[in-house]
Amino acid sequence: MVTIALTGGIGSGKTTIAKRLAELGGVILDADVFAREAVAVGSPALRQISARFGEDLIQADGTLDRQALGALVFGDDEARSALNDIVHPEVRRITGERLEEVLAEDPTALVVHVIPLLVESKSNYDYEEIWVADAPASVREERLVEGRGMSLAEARARIASQASDEERRRIADVLIDTSAPLDETLEQVDAEWRRLAGAALRAPETQTY
Ligand code: ATP
Repeated sequence: MVTIALTGGIGSGKTTIAKRLAELGGVILDADVFAREAVAVGSPALRQISARFGEDLIQADGTLDRQALGALVFGDDEARSALNDIVHPEVRRITGERLEEVLAEDPTALVVHVIPLLVESKSNYDYEEIWVADAPASVREERLVEGRGMSLAEARARIASQASDEERRRIADVLIDTSAPLDETLEQVDAEWRRLAGAALRAPETQTY
């Protein structure tokens, strides 16, 4: 099994790239999905969040009010780090479990771990390669405003709260240019995938000798 990370700032095109990689045969594991699972109704992490940040964050149906929690920790480093200390170990556990399942099912799988906050979370997973979806903040701002109806101020605040383009580029093995027209980006994704899949096929031989 070969695992790569796919990261990038908000609106950089991670979901679009991941969709293509799934079509090409990649097994997609999404850290955002695991983060939601970690705080599912009745979970220990949800109980800890309620104890630390207030019971009113739990809605009538037992689910977490993610927006209210987001507003609580936004711009408050101490609160954010307390939240991470609760959620991250659980996300790690779920990720490890899923990787084991994929490995058991298909030892030759090419796994794409979509992890938006790879730089911020210092997750320390063992990746074959790190792929970064890369587009200037101005392009991403426009996508968030036009495509998702965010105000310009909100789009800028969200982008500013994340790691910088420079920080992500520093850890990138592969930089996917998502400011190009979509078909060009997808061509780049296809080419990188062919290279990766080819290398993965050759790997057992090089390890044997
Ligand atoms: P988030 O972090 O908010 O989940 P994301 O990184 O997953 O965002 P997408 O949901 O893929 O980003 O959104 C990127 C948007 O930009 C999509 O609507 C996509 O169609 C559009 N787009 C335009 N050109 C490109 C390109 N060259 N590559 C990727 N996406 C592009």
